[in-house]
Amino acid sequence: MIDKASIEQLKNIVDIVDVIGNYIELKKAGTNYKALCPFHNEDTPSFVVSPAKQIYHCFGCGAGGDAIKFVMDYEKLSYPEAIEKLASMYNFSLVHTQGQSSLAPLFKALEEINKFYKSNLLHNQQALGYLKERGVSSVSIEKFSLGYAPDSASQLAYLKSHLIPFQDALQAGILAQEGERVYARMIERITFPIFSPKGALVGFGGRTITNHPAKYLNSPETKLFHKSKILYGYHIAKEQIFKKKLIIVCEGYMDVVMLHQGGFDTAVATLGTALTAGHLPLLTRGEPRVILAYDGDKAGINAALKASKLLSSHDIDGGVVIFPQGLDPADMVVQGKQSELHELFSHPQPFIQFVLETITKTYDLQNPKEKQKALFEGIEYLKTLPPLVAEEYRDYLAALLNILPSKVQLQPKKQQTTQPASLETRDAKELSIIKTMLVHPYLIDTVLDIIDIKHIIYHKEEFRLALEQNLEHPKIREILLDDGIITFDEENLHKELLVFLIKYYENKIKQLTHSNIPFEQKSYLIRKYKENIIKLKRGEMIIE
Ligand SMILES: [Zn+2]
Repeated sequence: MIDKASIEQLKNIVDIVDVIGNYIELKKAGTNYKALCPFHNEDTPSFVVSPAKQIYHCFGCGAGGDAIKFVMDYEKLSYPEAIEKLASMYNFSLVHTQGQSSLAPLFKALEEINKFYKSNLLHNQQALGYLKERGVSSVSIEKFSLGYAPDSASQLAYLKSHLIPFQDALQAGILAQEGERVYARMIERITFPIFSPKGALVGFGGRTITNHPAKYLNSPETKLFHKSKILYGYHIAKEQIFKKKLIIVCEGYMDVVMLHQGGFDTAVATLGTALTAGHLPLLTRGEPRVILAYDGDKAGINAALKASKLLSSHDIDGGVVIFPQGLDPADMVVQGKQSELHELFSHPQPFIQFVLETITKTYDLQNPKEKQKALFEGIEYLKTLPPLVAEEYRDYLAALLNILPSKVQLQPKKQQTTQPASLETRDAKELSIIKTMLVHPYLIDTVLDIIDIKHIIYHKEEFRLALEQNLEHPKIREILLDDGIITFDEENLHKELLVFLIKYYENKIKQLTHSNIPFEQKSYLIRKYKENIIKLKRGEMIIE
């Protein structure tokens, strides 16, 4: 473990412009620096580094954070690894603390309960019967450390007799608590232990064998277990993924187990969630081709579409294999259809083709309006790709829609400004109030004395984030870095808020006059709002 104080000292000497300037070329622009974003493809720079605030932010893709975050993302390192890297850049000697990390007891609790689950499986005929019926071999049971979680009471007794504090088991996600009652989360389920990429046990997936309505259940998010970043089976498949430069991503635990059993030993799965940007660091390690092996039902195709968009926009090579309705990779292995599977995985449909075809299939192309929508959606997608790649696929989209390639306009007609105009409406006053709350947190009370979130029309989310002082959020960084948004000082703020409220009620009245509510109610409300405005103009506060 790296000593916390030592990390703080390092942070104090690190300069973000230095650090990022080490990796990419920065150009001075006013008080900030600009560059082409290293995290997405673009022609005009929307990546901004602020020496004053020691943060970076990309107005194009939302990437951003401090110097450590940049090194983590750019070099695909973990937090401690990035700290070490920065320390070596600055010739800074970090202090390492001895002894166990505070997470050690949680790992221990997970390891212990996993032993219990594994031994339980061997004595439970029903659970073994289920696995046998699904075609899982004893080699696979061993390889994936499958187990069986019995009733809650035996698990509690086991933990107690092995001196595992309930508090640790709670924090590790093994137990849950409702009021006074403490109970095991996995009950009467086949357990699929989930490991970190380095092979540490961090959580469980569980499949019911007693017809519980939730077929599959995962451990909750804990200090160790982050669903959106982990891939099931990765630690086992890792070596082969690097060797074969191939990774097969499927949807379920059973698919992974059975694919490995069938010889497809680079298979992994997301943990009951969609594939997200959080998975990219793992997926890109060793630069494998990525094959998505998804179900042919609506949910599967939708998931494949989203994942393909994500992967292709990050220039990741690979394609999609959609299994026909009612068939899945696990069944095919059981039926001995390895050569068919091999054939399918050898000819995935490339991501970009898959996305364009799926988009055009969702519209009725006989209808000109629908066709226009399909064209628009296709173009929007192509614009997320590296420009040369997008150009390559123009003809493909045109052919799918049966139109001239020249109709596929990838370049915006107007010259694009350096900061892409947001599609959302921006409200300068609201943004100024929000920025004031961010820059002068002590003024938040003043703001809340006069207005609350219902008065904020366009930037509710940002307002909420500012209340939480969430400086990590991309939208918040955007506001902080936008020199066009002014802030108010204590004196002005009060006056500005009153003016803001007057505007709010004036708008309300305007909306009311055009609405269809009953006359009496309408005139009552209008009167009330007008009274409010009069009070505000006198400098009085409104209490509702
Ligand atoms: Zn970017």
